[in-house]
Amino acid sequence: MAFVIVDTCVGVKDISCVAVCPVDCIITTDSDPFMLINPDECIDCGACMPECPVNAIFAEDDTPADQQQWIEINKAYVSLDKAAFNEKYGKVIEAAKEKNRGSAHANQALY
Ligand code: SF4
Ligand code: SF4
Repeated sequence: MAFVIVDTCVGVKDISCVAVCPVDCIITTDSDPFMLINPDECIDCGACMPECPVNAIFAEDDTPADQQQWIEINKAYVSLDKAAFNEKYGKVIEAAKEKNRGSAHANQALY
């Protein structure tokens, strides 16, 4: 099992979670408007979860039913190259970003 970041991070990406992760497994690239968790390195400590202002972090087994695809997306961010990841999940990411545009925590620099 690992922890999972879901759609509410997209367009927010305030990196509060990153500072508390003891194994540096919360990852991104400069060009991506989200963070995701490397499930191969996450040690399930749970330290990141309370840091998130938009409740985007869940233990895998507690991931809400409507967010289940994000378990796969977190895994794919590590296992696929960037082009393949964008091809497969680009529309999902873009939809999440648009959904979060009006969030009080949205980072307009990412839009
Ligand atoms: S549960 Fe712990 S190890 Fe896993 S991403 Fe969060 S802080 Fe890092
Ligand atoms: S704390 Fe939440 S919103 Fe901020 S980067 Fe981490 S998962 Fe994304």
